[in-house]
Amino acid sequence: MSKTREKLIAKLALRPGRRPRLARIDPDGELTPDLAELAEDELKEHAREVLAHYLERLAEAQEELWANDRRSVLVVLQAMDAAGKDGTIKHVMSGVNPQGCQVHSFKKPSAEELDHDFLWRYVKALPERGRIGIFNRSYYEDVLVVKVHPELLETGKLPEGKRGKAFWRARYEAINAMEKHLVESGTLVLKFFLHISKEEQRRRLLDRLEDPSKHWKFSAADVVERGYWDQYQAAYEDAFEATSTPWAPWHVIPANRKYVARNLVAALITRAIEGLELGWPKVSEAAEEELRAAREQLLAEDSSSGGARARKAKQKRKAQRSTKERRRDER
Ligand code: ATP
Ligand code: MG
Repeated sequence: MSKTREKLIAKLALRPGRRPRLARIDPDGELTPDLAELAEDELKEHAREVLAHYLERLAEAQEELWANDRRSVLVVLQAMDAAGKDGTIKHVMSGVNPQGCQVHSFKKPSAEELDHDFLWRYVKALPERGRIGIFNRSYYEDVLVVKVHPELLETGKLPEGKRGKAFWRARYEAINAMEKHLVESGTLVLKFFLHISKEEQRRRLLDRLEDPSKHWKFSAADVVERGYWDQYQAAYEDAFEATSTPWAPWHVIPANRKYVARNLVAALITRAIEGLELGWPKVSEAAEEELRAAREQLLAEDSSSGGARARKAKQKRKAQRSTKERRRDER
């Protein structure tokens, strides 16, 4: 991979403790000079090839993850409505073995979920060792939509108290502590924010309204939430500042062009798993001995059945010869 592309990818991770200004991060994304010269359809074609390349590597990385059965990967996907979370999951995961991958989509919490601490329902859904777990929305909703609409807190049964800065700080700290614990326990935590512009969201929502095959995707609530765009962007900035940590940094993915977002997410997940340098699990000397014995047994079976086949053929030839001989004698 070229150095410029390497640099562009490295720039996507937010530095811990820094407050990003989302308005200053271009949702169209930056292209390397060689790609910037391409026309839109050439770019798409190139993106398809790059995605295919990463999906191949991701499939192998996932197999190693599965075979090792010691580490797991948690992919957290957050975004404004219509930013392309579903499409990204569909494309990026299209190449992996479904057995080793699980996707959880989190909606408004149920009465049972509200009866527990805010992390409970997410902890229950964490990926097992050897697997990739994708959170389509996550515990971050509890410091995003809930921060934008604090009245949601009243539907829960939280202890009395102020819902000011200290309340939200405690939630960020709970999230950081949980993620740190996960990382120390062998989980790779990868967090992506699909960053689209307000204008791109308008186009996509209109598109859903104008195309009957996309009507099912449209939710009037999306238009209502769009009215809170600035509050959401501020809540995201607060969350990024507080929860982009050395052990689990956030990545802001330019998502106005869907293929750019998909490729970047695929590249980052693939490289992160490859970075674990798992390799194929080592087999003990005793197990090696068992493998050798099993191999010998199977080979012997093959030659003995081959031998049986040969004996049968010999008998058949003998029988044919004797019939011929008998006829000759009869003549
Ligand atoms: P789509 O792209 O299909 O619209 P979606 O993730 O937006 O996918 P929806 O069913 O439209 O799915 O929306 C889920 C809603 O649930 C979102 O508005 C989200 O903010 C809300 N939600 C998720 N977690 C929480 C939470 N912890 N508290 C309150 N609301 C939540
Ligand atoms: Mg929605």
